[in-house]
Amino acid sequence: MAGFEGKAAFVTGAGSGIGRATSLALASRGAFVWVTDFDKAGADGTVDLIRKAGGSASAIALDVRHEAEWEAALAEVDAHGVPLGVLVNCAGKNIITDTFTMPLEDFRFLLSVNVESAFLGMKLGIPRIAKSGGGAVVNISSIMGLKGQARMAGYCGAKGAVRMMTKAIALECAELRNNVRVNSLHPGIVDTPAWHKHSSDEAGMLGGATGAGAAPKLDAHEVAKTMVPIGVAASAEEIAETVCFLASDAARHITGAEIVIDGGMTAD
Ligand code: NAP
Repeated sequence: MAGFEGKAAFVTGAGSGIGRATSLALASRGAFVWVTDFDKAGADGTVDLIRKAGGSASAIALDVRHEAEWEAALAEVDAHGVPLGVLVNCAGKNIITDTFTMPLEDFRFLLSVNVESAFLGMKLGIPRIAKSGGGAVVNISSIMGLKGQARMAGYCGAKGAVRMMTKAIALECAELRNNVRVNSLHPGIVDTPAWHKHSSDEAGMLGGATGAGAAPKLDAHEVAKTMVPIGVAASAEEIAETVCFLASDAARHITGAEIVIDGGMTAD
């Protein structure tokens, strides 16, 4: 796989889970990584891990829902000078809830954090990638952007929108001949801290254990035993490997594609 020496990569939601693993993987292949997250302490933690492994990175606090924050973060990238070659839109959230009592503000929150975020990243990031000679965008969607799941109307709606927006922008880039490829990645169940952030009620709605006061949380490995055909959850590192492939020159004919990593969940 081609390296990323002399290029900068910009990763959102990089203080945890898939974003952190992706940042580490890109840095290990020579990229200067802009590690961005809502949670600055998490982003700093990822930068520490990259530097300890001999890589180069810097942290930026970025709430991906706000255009002004994107503009400020990318102005920092411009000022630093290493040309931007890769954008990974990874920040995202899920709320598992009954649709018919779901507040509109929760639905809008999911669109904002999962879809508007990726739109803003591409609107502002792609012209910079094009200016630096080209590169790639990888949008982290989900298999919930390919298939429905009860009590996930907001998340499925948002991740499905990420999938189609990816294709539209990939074609726009192709038309411009700007040498920027845009793809979406659709993981199934990945063992990341996100699973532990769900409430006990949400765990119950997905078939996990629940109960007053017990506060049981979802565990990716437990959920995978029943939901993933091969019986195991993916690791964040496995997802990161595919992000690196899609971002590399080895994938130069792949654009507008949806790449599924789900242990067979969408095979039926
Ligand atoms: P994670 O471990 O929770 O990491 C996501 C990171 O994004 C967290 O640090 C989170 O901060 C941050 N974030 C949340 N809202 C943000 C905002 N507005 N601006 C910037 N950063 C924000 O989750 P993950 O499992 O790695 O998920 C990464 C992506 O993969 C998401 O888009 C998710 O939907 C997708 N995905 C995950 C799975 C899975 O099984 N884990 C499966 C399919 C798709 P906080 O912790 O403060 O919220």
